[in-house]
Amino acid sequence: MNIWKMDFFRSTFTYILLLFLSACGDHDEIGLPIDSQKSSTEKTAVVVGAGLSGLSAAYELEQLGFDVTVLEARDRIGGRVATVEMGQQSGEIGGEFIDGETVHKELHRYAHLFDVELANTGYEGSIQSGAYYIDDNLVSYDEFDESYSAPVVTDYYRFYDELSLLADIVPDPEKPLILEAAVELDKRNVQSWIDELQLHPSAKQLAEQFVRGEFDEPKDLSLLHLAQYAKVYENVSDDDVESFRFLKGGQAMTSAFAKNISGDILLNQAVTNIQQVDNKITVTTVSDDTYTSDVIVVTVPLKVLNKITFTPALPDELTQAAKNINYGTHSKVLLRYSKRFWLEHNLGGDTVVASLPTGWTWETTERQGGEGGILIAYTSGDFSKMQQHWSDQQVIDTRLAEIELMYPGSSQYFVEAKSQSWLNEQWTKGGFLAYGPGQMSAYWDLFKQPVGRIYFAGEHTDTLYLGYMEGAVRSGVRVAKQISELKL
Ligand SMILES: Cc1cc2nc3c(=O)[nH]c(=O)nc-3n(C[C@H](O)[C@H](O)[C@H](O)COP(=O)(O)OP(=O)(O)OC[C@H]3O[C@@H](n4cnc5c(N)ncnc54)[C@H](O)[C@@H]3O)c2cc1C
Repeated sequence: MNIWKMDFFRSTFTYILLLFLSACGDHDEIGLPIDSQKSSTEKTAVVVGAGLSGLSAAYELEQLGFDVTVLEARDRIGGRVATVEMGQQSGEIGGEFIDGETVHKELHRYAHLFDVELANTGYEGSIQSGAYYIDDNLVSYDEFDESYSAPVVTDYYRFYDELSLLADIVPDPEKPLILEAAVELDKRNVQSWIDELQLHPSAKQLAEQFVRGEFDEPKDLSLLHLAQYAKVYENVSDDDVESFRFLKGGQAMTSAFAKNISGDILLNQAVTNIQQVDNKITVTTVSDDTYTSDVIVVTVPLKVLNKITFTPALPDELTQAAKNINYGTHSKVLLRYSKRFWLEHNLGGDTVVASLPTGWTWETTERQGGEGGILIAYTSGDFSKMQQHWSDQQVIDTRLAEIELMYPGSSQYFVEAKSQSWLNEQWTKGGFLAYGPGQMSAYWDLFKQPVGRIYFAGEHTDTLYLGYMEGAVRSGVRVAKQISELKL
């Protein structure tokens, strides 16, 4: 078992205690003697998952005086936030962009609290941030606005106008179901709504790519989910959207959480069983270690929740919800080039692509030195699903060929790539939650309430920023507040 972080005295104490127990031949209903260290008056919590939601929950619970143990299945912390080194540079294989501080408030708060540096995204000065790739043409954002074929432009902006109208009908984004037409809207898929708008074919492709990239395939997304999102972002200026990332990568943020949590964060400890008896929780992990606590916070993505056996079983509606709730499929390929060829086009590397499987590209290394840079190719929805059984090399070659189409001659600068499919990750099995038609009415509130002493957190339980890092940390804060109301 790897121990991410363990206070020296605690580890020494544990070691001595283990020696003592083994000398007594007394191991155990309670495999690792975590509980034996605690006095009976201490409030104890186990957190399952060391993604941002688990880390923020653990941190907040410690502020409330809980003795916390975090159990993580992977051999690293961070979950869907992970930074990879490529040459002298680095990039994100999962969560990356952060909105302005009036939007992603909690992430900014934690970054300030732990002194984690944020960096603005994009280039400054004369370099335009990016371009559309439409009908085999690369059209810079300015050109698109000023002189691109009028019907494409007007229809593309009409799509966003219609989105605003959709936002107008949602009274409260935190309670989307109070909308009178909620059930009707929820039953509809976004594709049928886009079809009805009768957009110019290229504008329609751009609109579909937007939905696919932000959520999932338009046919698989509830129109109510899109309306709720539109409401959340109704008054947010473009300058505040995706305007930051962590200067030293998402890993800097997750490590900062870990450094500020004094309890143990135990890696390679996939939780297999959670038993709840008389207000006590007993957790068993893959290595047969057991932990007991007063409360447990389960933060695992829904797609892997049913791998855990609960005793007594979770209410059927939760099990069904975990099985059915749709997750968007998203994959990234990080392509390191020896030259930032996009700058030669006076572009920042952002490319919104209408008609290729790569829906978006962007540079992730604007604030990193060196002549070369890393371009991310982001593929979502069915385009991402269809490559589930491809080899990494096949995915990389396909993305490279697409980028060569957009930026002829670029392949000569290719150095190396890293391909990341979240659908294939055994502890995630998808990108992030994207409610399918009918699912918000059926499942919206389910994981926001505890089942006895079992609490749920994770981006999928947030009310505002589903599918975001902000949603994950907000859920950690929310769950700690709920637990603080328990009389322990
Ligand atoms: C490709 C991609 C791009 C993204 N881009 C952005 C972005 O630009 N901006 C943004 O804000 N968000 C983005 N996100 C979303 C963001 O990364 C997530 O919303 C957030 O990181 C989720 O955090 P979490 O704690 O809820 O879940 P996770 O990070 O998935 O954490 C859950 C943890 O539980 C662990 N686990 C699972 N099962 C068990 C078990 N049985 N026992 C113990 N541990 C277990 C997992 O290993 C994992 O570490 C992106 C996501 C993806 C996939």
